[in-house]
Amino acid sequence: MLWWGISRSLTHELVRHRAGFGFSQVSQRYVGGKTLRFVERPEYAGDPYLHQLFEDRIDRTQQEYEAMTDYLVAKQKDGTEILGAEHKTDLRKKVRQAARSLLPNETEAPVVVTANVRAWRHFLNTRGSEHAETEIRRAAFESYRCLSRVAPLLFGDFKVVHLPDGTHGLSTPFPKV
Ligand SMILES: Cc1cc2nc3c(=O)[nH]c(=O)nc-3n(C[C@H](O)[C@H](O)[C@H](O)COP(=O)(O)OP(=O)(O)OC[C@H]3O[C@@H](n4cnc5c(N)ncnc54)[C@H](O)[C@@H]3O)c2cc1C
Repeated sequence: MLWWGISRSLTHELVRHRAGFGFSQVSQRYVGGKTLRFVERPEYAGDPYLHQLFEDRIDRTQQEYEAMTDYLVAKQKDGTEILGAEHKTDLRKKVRQAARSLLPNETEAPVVVTANVRAWRHFLNTRGSEHAETEIRRAAFESYRCLSRVAPLLFGDFKVVHLPDGTHGLSTPFPKV
């Protein structure tokens, strides 16, 4: 399953799932600033002040990232040892791996997720719970919508729960299948 439009904070929680999961994520060491995107939380999107802060912050981050990259490239050209490498790709990687440290949790972090049925069910159960964080709960809900369409026998027992804040959760009478 390809997930995009999701933040680094979501994928940080996602990769805690180990048994039966595989992840392949866009690398911030190989992919540079031209493709930088940021994910706005719904709490910010609905509030003009928070939305403005978000926009200012991501503009600032983009500028800082570019300035940092330019500075590191200049240092690299001057022969700074820690930034040195033999191949062009490695040179770029050395710059990006240093520059990315300033990126916030709201940086977009697309990921391909594969999992076996048991692992998906465990994920839907824990991350579709009302106690799960909103963004990962939404990812669990969207995953459920895909999985229940392609394999209704395996995922059809999950029921959609409508939560008071307008978001959705998941519930099943068979959490330990
Ligand atoms: C609402 C919520 C709040 C959370 N809050 C926090 C928090 O505050 N801090 C924090 O650090 N984490 C937190 N987590 C993450 C949580 O602790 C787990 O790391 C995460 O949910 C992955 O669950 P898991 O280990 O059961 O999953 P998986 O890694 O998918 O494992 C599934 C099951 O397989 C078994 N298993 C996995 N690996 C092994 C192994 N090597 N050997 C034997 N058995 C294994 C275990 O029984 C495990 O339960 C939270 C999770 C949720 C859903």
